[in-house]
Amino acid sequence: MAQAEASLYSESSEPVTLHNVAYAPMEPVFQAAPALPTGRPDPALAYPAAPVSISLPASKPALTEILPKSTKMIADMIRQQAGLVSGDEKILRLRAGEGIGALLRRAGYSANDIASAIEAVADKVSLHRLQIGSVFQVAPEGFRFSTKPGRDIYVINHPESGWLALSALRPVDRYISFFQGVIDDSIYRAAMLAGVSEVAFNEYTRVMGFSVDFQREVRTGDRFELLYEVERDGIDGKVIGVQLHYAGLLLSGEQLGFFRYNGDGNAFGWYDENGNSAARTLIRTPISGARLSSSFGHRKHPVSGFNAMHKGVDFAAPRGTPIIAAGSGLVLEAGWKGSFGRYIRIRHNATYDTAYAHMARIAPHIRQGTRVKQGEVIGYVGSTGRSTGAHLHYEVIVNNRQVNPMTVRLPTSERIDDQHLEAFKATVAAIDSEVLSHGKVRFAGAVPTKNVQ
Ligand SMILES: [Zn+2]
Repeated sequence: MAQAEASLYSESSEPVTLHNVAYAPMEPVFQAAPALPTGRPDPALAYPAAPVSISLPASKPALTEILPKSTKMIADMIRQQAGLVSGDEKILRLRAGEGIGALLRRAGYSANDIASAIEAVADKVSLHRLQIGSVFQVAPEGFRFSTKPGRDIYVINHPESGWLALSALRPVDRYISFFQGVIDDSIYRAAMLAGVSEVAFNEYTRVMGFSVDFQREVRTGDRFELLYEVERDGIDGKVIGVQLHYAGLLLSGEQLGFFRYNGDGNAFGWYDENGNSAARTLIRTPISGARLSSSFGHRKHPVSGFNAMHKGVDFAAPRGTPIIAAGSGLVLEAGWKGSFGRYIRIRHNATYDTAYAHMARIAPHIRQGTRVKQGEVIGYVGSTGRSTGAHLHYEVIVNNRQVNPMTVRLPTSERIDDQHLEAFKATVAAIDSEVLSHGKVRFAGAVPTKNVQ
């Protein structure tokens, strides 16, 4: 770890390799009170990946006091609740067409026990919702199953009260992981080699994607860091949820650092440490996996041969590659437009438009007047109009003038509300102290970030 640390901060001329990727092994943290707020998906970033959902023990603190904790073996709960020493327990899975009664018959229960057990459990949970393959742990004196994550239903034959059902909470272990690493050739490879959770990494690229074009702007020697939380079922160890809380990136000379904030109402989202939203009105590149084949500015036109101003950028990509709306807005034009071929122009606000040309196809629902959301697929790469090969010609238009999409300063979305600023700063402080507890200091986000106006 110390060696890796040195490689991050020293002026060493040694080439940086993946061996230098520093990472923190998972360490359990306290369980009672979450250090960091967790929760809902972020609407500002609700594209294109699925939001992370976590079942939060913290959101229902009362239940942890009311309900017993699930036990590793059902015998433990039978002893706790009924004072009985239980016989062998076995695992049965619900078969197609089978109800809980048939399953208990398979387990060797008598008709009387089955009837009483079902009566007891029917108060707790709707048995119609049980799915094929549901796991039952069955002992002669009781059984256990689950109908929702984090919760178990125990049904126990109490020596005095007879069959009774009770809910129990499965214990949840929460871990905070912090990773810092140096990028060799691919940030994805560096992150995966370091052992970063893929779910956390996907969210990382989504948050950073507003500010950074990973294909063109990230270079060897750049550094990334992220802090996320993993929740595991305390009995079977399965990962229940992963949530990213901090994303940092150090490009040559530029720093970006964004923090998740789960405030009330509309305040949740990703912000830099000054409370500026990570989200931009426009995504920098409306296509993924593409190569920049022609930049903005004067050039000899590949077809006409005349010198002309190239008022956009060209991204070479295979025919059919999806093109997404760089920002939310209203479709001003969608259709054939002379040398542009199949063309879409979107108005994002009074200042910003974007345009997309040479498409093979326009997405079926897109026509003049359609409202589009940022990240929505609007068409597919082609070579229609005056074009020499499959590519996207992309324009950013500011006050009706084309500007260079690769260098334009993109406006940020909303700043965090003033009323949430204090709570947000507390979140940043909590993350910083968590990072510190891993023996590190975050390297990104300390200076004004790129593209913030
Ligand atoms: Zn072009």
